[in-house]
Amino acid sequence: MTRVAHADTPPQSGWDIHCHTVYSDGTETPETLVAEAVRRGLHGVAIADHDTTAGWQEAEQAATRMSMPLLRGTEITAVDDGVSVHMLGLQYDPENEGIRELFAMTRRARLRRTRRMVEMIAKDYPITWDDVLAQTKQGERTTIGRPHIADALVAAGVYPTRSDAFAGAVSASSRYYIPTPSPSAADVVSAVSAAGGVSIVAHAGDPGRNRVLLSDTQIERLAKAGLGGLEVWHRGNPLEQRERLLTLAHRLDLLVTGGSDWHGAGKPNALGENLTADATVEEIIRRGCLPAIR
Ligand SMILES: [Zn+2]
Ligand SMILES: [Zn+2]
Repeated sequence: MTRVAHADTPPQSGWDIHCHTVYSDGTETPETLVAEAVRRGLHGVAIADHDTTAGWQEAEQAATRMSMPLLRGTEITAVDDGVSVHMLGLQYDPENEGIRELFAMTRRARLRRTRRMVEMIAKDYPITWDDVLAQTKQGERTTIGRPHIADALVAAGVYPTRSDAFAGAVSASSRYYIPTPSPSAADVVSAVSAAGGVSIVAHAGDPGRNRVLLSDTQIERLAKAGLGGLEVWHRGNPLEQRERLLTLAHRLDLLVTGGSDWHGAGKPNALGENLTADATVEEIIRRGCLPAIR
């Protein structure tokens, strides 16, 4: 394994390898992502929508047309000992059966969970599963979840707005709530490795997302299982967490990455506000199984 020396300060130029588009919860198309990357003078960009590869092709076409280097990735929601973890899986084979099955299992488990929540809510409110389905726009391709239950409750006149539904029956503290089922972080690490890709823990030290963060021991366990790196340069990681993660990365020989977590107009994060060094991206490309788009 080639070691990559990591500087202890955020890179001032390089790639933004953590970006979302309309294929998950971003507001812009992959094409706009690539055009923005060109405009901002980035060395390259990665598409990393939540739990899907649906935007890859569009991103590839745009990157080729605009000569913007591109990595292909997915931000995969996982759980490790009760701690919710976001993992970036990069440069893996999207046709790999193991990773396809992992995504399919998650979709099935989430569908069962949402149906179960609707069954419970339907005992007290005038909505049915069909009413919830009627709120989805992309049919089968949509991950049906709480926003659609909320919209069905609004359509039934129970709440005036989606936010009111989220503060009521659909809230995470309501008695109808069931947590989102997710694969274990170790399973994601092995699935991404088996599919020829590199896995990175996203915003690993963000106390705004997790009351309890992944411990050093947990990260060490994932490193032994084949984890590739830690996203250190991310607006959610406070200074002391960046220092902890850098120390861990040195000790466990993990790559250090950065990304904006851009969502277009969906979040204040600016494209390129955090970057990954060129040498680190070269190493990700070397370890991954997809040809780089340059
Ligand atoms: Zn995330
Ligand atoms: Zn993200």
